[in-house]
Amino acid sequence: IIVCRGINKWYGTHHALKNVSLDVQKGEVIVIIGPSGSGKSTFIRTINALEEIQEGDIIVDGINLSDDIANIDAIRKETGMVFQQFNLFPHMTIVENITLAPIWVRKWPKEKAVSIALELLERVGIHDQAGKYPGQLSGGQQQRVAIARALAMQPKIMLFDEPTSALDPEMIKEVLDVMKTLANSGITLLVVTHEMNFAREVADRVIFFDAGEIMEIGKPQQIFENPQSDRTKLFLSQIL
Ligand code: ATP
Ligand code: MG
Repeated sequence: IIVCRGINKWYGTHHALKNVSLDVQKGEVIVIIGPSGSGKSTFIRTINALEEIQEGDIIVDGINLSDDIANIDAIRKETGMVFQQFNLFPHMTIVENITLAPIWVRKWPKEKAVSIALELLERVGIHDQAGKYPGQLSGGQQQRVAIARALAMQPKIMLFDEPTSALDPEMIKEVLDVMKTLANSGITLLVVTHEMNFAREVADRVIFFDAGEIMEIGKPQQIFENPQSDRTKLFLSQIL
């Protein structure tokens, strides 16, 4: 469902992505790990065109991102994104946050959008918070709203960039649990995270990024039990 071929990206003179190639199958769960500044965020942001690339091809669900600007809208409808900071609209209720894009982008009638929003809130375990404002929710609850908001567009792919890094420890589990349920639902997931237990349990493949390159890629067991590159070994020894 995602094909990346020979992606190169520079920020000025900084070579942030170096010849990155990757094929992701529909329904696959990919976890991306690696040191700070290695290009993990840059990479997943290229997949929904939040970052431009200078070389290479990215094809998402058959749509080539580099062809023209119209494709970018099409791809953003297929990909949901969840960030470290929840990025909810503070002046809108939870339900309004979730229904905004379905009403304006998908052109759904309000009743349909609200009823789907309530179902999604049920699914992430906070249906009782629908009428509140983001500031009245805990961090873990806000992140679950952000997940529900992304799911409301019925994306084929969900991109997560360190979704639990801004959360207090007791809230991390509730967000990871929602993501585990998602992983089993058949949607394609790309997750940047430092939660190695999540990677072990849920990932089909783990990618180790280093200095803008895919240094190593494999099943979680292979990456964690039998890493091939010295960089992977060093990184894992520092965090595990
Ligand atoms: P972290 O774990 O800290 O989130 P990361 O692996 O996500 O790191 P990126 O944010 O992708 O790393 O950044 C990769 C490199 O590109 C870093 O050296 C960073 O300083 C640089 N970079 C990122 N965004 C920009 C930008 N908008 N302008 C210039 N340089 C940038
Ligand atoms: Mg990052």
